[in-house]
Amino acid sequence: MPDPTRPRGPKIIAIANQKGGVGKTTTTINLGSALAEAGQRVLIVDLDPQGNASTGLGIEADEREYTTYELLLEEIELSQVVQDTEIDNLKIVPATVDLSSADIELISNEKRSFLLHDALRQTAMDSYGLDYILIDCPPSLNLLTVNAMVAAHSVLVPLQSEFFALEGLSQLMLTIREVRQSANPNLRIEGIVLTMFDARNNLSSQVEQDARDNLGDLVFQTRIPRNVRVSEAPSYAQPVLQYDTASKGAQAYRDLARELMSNQTRAAA
Ligand code: ADP
Ligand code: MG
Repeated sequence: MPDPTRPRGPKIIAIANQKGGVGKTTTTINLGSALAEAGQRVLIVDLDPQGNASTGLGIEADEREYTTYELLLEEIELSQVVQDTEIDNLKIVPATVDLSSADIELISNEKRSFLLHDALRQTAMDSYGLDYILIDCPPSLNLLTVNAMVAAHSVLVPLQSEFFALEGLSQLMLTIREVRQSANPNLRIEGIVLTMFDARNNLSSQVEQDARDNLGDLVFQTRIPRNVRVSEAPSYAQPVLQYDTASKGAQAYRDLARELMSNQTRAAA
């Protein structure tokens, strides 16, 4: 039976943390493909000028004619920028380095914080029948990340299991609070996921303990282990679920997808 409390249209999740190298892109690609494998229809929006999510999903640079840049700054329709990937149920809006100038170009635009919101919530969206949109944010709390938070229903935060991991979180939480106050009062925190976790390393366990003590239920039960197959997969332009389907990393992202999907029922209950 359809859930009447579920909002119409896809659930939009910004994957954000202003630190680089914490597993945002890896989580976007692999959570996206795990959701797709579970039968959910997923769109990934690459909002990082580095375009790593696009590369990691096999979209070559010369195949990126229309990108997030055109979606935001040239009002090109979503239908023109969405591309299929090799994976069933998984589509992407790719990015190129063009996006690096967007932050500055947007400054004088009155709707500068709402451009992604307006692009993703347009009625044309309905025709895709999407269940999830995952936005891979750049490693900064700039206007692009703010666009993601204004467009999103929730923010998912990858937290690398290493020293100083929690330090940047207060700045991120402050930005979320500001976005709630100014533009998106219903923005939720979907959860915090520990990435590159090494159970044999005391530091990982310490970070986990600190995170659970301070953030409680916001921390996903699923931990993403440090797994070499996860780091190899992008050079084969594949999610780890395709590259090594039985690997620990692939299993962990399947677990995370399951936990996320039950989050949704919990939130709707
Ligand atoms: P971000 O998008 O936050 O900058 P990435 O997802 O690009 O971070 O990850 C940074 C680096 O860490 C990449 O080289 C990636 O392959 C590697 N990495 C991420 N998650 C894992 C993991 N679970 N196990 C091993 N390597 C990982
Ligand atoms: Mg990234």
